[in-house]
Amino acid sequence: MEPLIIRDQHLDSLGRFSARLAVALSRGEAAPAEELAGALVAECVQCGMQVNGCEILQLSEPVEKEEDTSKAGRLRFAYCARKGCTSYFYKLKFFAHPQFDWTNILLQVDKAPDEQSPEVIANQQLLESMKKARRKQFASRLCTVVALVVLMFVLFQWYNGGTIPFLRVPEKFTVDMVPRVSHLDMEEQ
Ligand SMILES: [Zn+2]
Repeated sequence: MEPLIIRDQHLDSLGRFSARLAVALSRGEAAPAEELAGALVAECVQCGMQVNGCEILQLSEPVEKEEDTSKAGRLRFAYCARKGCTSYFYKLKFFAHPQFDWTNILLQVDKAPDEQSPEVIANQQLLESMKKARRKQFASRLCTVVALVVLMFVLFQWYNGGTIPFLRVPEKFTVDMVPRVSHLDMEEQ
């Protein structure tokens, strides 16, 4: 079946889309959540990984655990649901369904004001702090690796009697070409 509407979606704003979709869906006659699985599919433009509408809707729910490796967990951090994929874009495919009037729903999603509930704001702040913590962790790991490499290089050079840059000044030898003869020696001859 061909989708009714196809949209490109940046992963950075997929969480916002999900929250707005949840609000729009709650306004209409509530369709069973499982129905969304067949009416909406998100597909990675790079690896083709598919995530269904129910999984997308999960992104609007509060974060439960900090180390979430599920599809939704990865998408929350704006990563493709497939581990290792570096894509930032998904294609959202909306399929015709008697309980989802997509044209109307998407109109509400696009026009939704940016005012957010305290829960959503708290959720975003938590995600931001988790992202920062991850970056810090990565930076400190990188520093440790660099320090170890430098230490190993210094030890290797020291063991083999080589020079260590910045630590040992190269020795300079000066040679006097003319032998010095003192005046006393001259007088004796
Ligand atoms: Zn992907």
